[in-house]
Amino acid sequence: MLSVSQAEEIILNLVQPLDAQQDQEVVMLLTAIERILAAPVVGVLDFPHWDNSAMDGYAVRYEDVKQCSDLEPSVLEIVEEIPAGKEPQHFIKTGQAARILTGAVMPLGADTVVMQENTRREGNRVFILTSPEPQEFVRHRASFYQAGTPLLQPGIKINAPEIAVLAAAQCNHLTVYRRPRVAILSTGDELVTPDQPLQPGEIVDSNQYALAALIAQTGAEPLQLGIVEDQPEAITEAIAHAVATSDIVLSSGGVSVGDYDYVDQILESLGANIHIRAVAVKPGKPLTVATFPATETSNHKPVLYFGLPGNPVSALVSFWRFVQPAIKKLSGISHSWGPVFVNARSRQDLRSDGKRETYLWGSLHLVDGYYEFQLAGGSHSSGNLINLAQTNSLAVLPVGKTLISTGEIVQVLQVSSPIIKN
Ligand code: AMP
Ligand code: MG
Repeated sequence: MLSVSQAEEIILNLVQPLDAQQDQEVVMLLTAIERILAAPVVGVLDFPHWDNSAMDGYAVRYEDVKQCSDLEPSVLEIVEEIPAGKEPQHFIKTGQAARILTGAVMPLGADTVVMQENTRREGNRVFILTSPEPQEFVRHRASFYQAGTPLLQPGIKINAPEIAVLAAAQCNHLTVYRRPRVAILSTGDELVTPDQPLQPGEIVDSNQYALAALIAQTGAEPLQLGIVEDQPEAITEAIAHAVATSDIVLSSGGVSVGDYDYVDQILESLGANIHIRAVAVKPGKPLTVATFPATETSNHKPVLYFGLPGNPVSALVSFWRFVQPAIKKLSGISHSWGPVFVNARSRQDLRSDGKRETYLWGSLHLVDGYYEFQLAGGSHSSGNLINLAQTNSLAVLPVGKTLISTGEIVQVLQVSSPIIKN
């Protein structure tokens, strides 16, 4: 059976990122948060836009002040005051200075700013008491960024710092990758939606909701295709529809060896190539990964198919470990596809049978700068989703490891932010 890392490598190699030319859309700056840039942004403004002052002080000609001191100050005539946002009106001649405030445009003629603390003012005269360095406290036009050169590169995610840069550069529209479309279908005759009364033996299709939430959190668009009965015709039709409308299809249930588990057969009958049928992982062993070749109906793109186990915990763990990196790679982001692992001190004994790489759910805490892992209380059966609430991480026990004792370091896959004690 494939190991987790072998499966991960196969999956990532199967993913073809969205096409920067075809799979793009233009969005307004404010709605660009967390989108992935699909084309370089080239600014039309230099940064700084003008030579300006980095200090409150006096704009002077260096030649006038290069040899002054407390005892022999240079005395200059103040010809104007330049606050930020005002255009200077005077050319500074020899023997002259302008009062200038931080961020204000340097007047022509002046080349240096003397900070206020090194001056004394008397009426419209200023005494320069310390000789500055040439060009001191002048931020030169284009010294931070030159118009016409790339400002931001494609493949990055737009977060608040990029919004700040783009707003300052007056880039109000951006070309981003469209969101990947991820279809979800739940197979199982026993499934009902959360709003339906339960008949004996029925269970609620929680996977549909959990997976939709995870897909949206990953920046993709979930297409909820609902519950499909365990009937080959119904499943065939649902998968064919899903493949025609999405980049990735997730089905849950029906991939183990039960009598009603048709999914693998159906995939083959629809022309898919099956790359993975099972992975040595617990929970989540019955995992199907397949690709549908590019066709007209699939928008000329291959479609990736994940047949996830039906067990609610297995479905989520498989999503975090295998599906999320695939969505990220597909989305156009150029880095950080894989899960985030950190080392944490375990607060409990962690056990596994050592046969498969085992993921135990719980919460990661950041205590005085160190991570601690708290195992979720209650049963760690993959059918128990109740103690999954407040899970922010999964402790990983490698194959062959049957025990990680209390106080030992364990590798933890982080699925959301740690709990920080304030
Ligand atoms: P299966 O993989 O179809 O054999 O399902 C394994 C277990 O997961 C069964 O107990 C199912 O009832 C349960 N299950 C399957 N699909 C879902 C779903 N969409 N939501 C919640 N539980 C499910
Ligand atoms: Mg089933």
